[in-house]
Amino acid sequence: MNEHTSSDARGRRIAFVAHCLLNQNAKVPGLAGYPGVFQPLCTPLTRHGIGIVQMRCPEMDHLGPGRPLGTDTIDQYDTPAYRDLCRRLAGAVATEAAVYHAAGYRVLFALGVEGSPSCSVSNAPVLEAGCRILRPGRGLFMEALAAAFAAAGLQVPFIGIPEVPESGELDEALSSLEVVVTCAGE
Ligand code: SF4
Repeated sequence: MNEHTSSDARGRRIAFVAHCLLNQNAKVPGLAGYPGVFQPLCTPLTRHGIGIVQMRCPEMDHLGPGRPLGTDTIDQYDTPAYRDLCRRLAGAVATEAAVYHAAGYRVLFALGVEGSPSCSVSNAPVLEAGCRILRPGRGLFMEALAAAFAAAGLQVPFIGIPEVPESGELDEALSSLEVVVTCAGE
């Protein structure tokens, strides 16, 4: 038996988090609300001793940090190449999650970003009559991620974080996070 095993403090509880919630430098220029981490998430994510896995930012991989805002809708990103990128990134996340799951770890939730063409969970932006509106649904990356988790046989709750009031109620999202963590037990 390894002499360090008895002092191993890991909690075996993991969360997969949209890249920019931990690194606002990845956001489209003009949309970062914080210098680094999206601060309202710091305490909720750390106080329960949850391991945080930062997912890749698909838009960064696609167009880099200087990408234009454009219409900021799903319509802007909905191309075969971008969907393929989202599928590949989502597949890698699901593979990593499945490895943890198979080893007895719990994957508590995946965090997305409401109002994002890629990472929305419940409120996704679309173009309608030339205007950007939010409609119920997932962004392109979260859609691919849900499919990848399902294909891997994983049931992972999704929680969308609204960074701005226009995208939803942040307090409600943080309450949902607490509920999921509480139901999962310590
Ligand atoms: S694509 Fe997702 S991770 Fe990247 S900046 Fe947009 S919301 Fe954040």
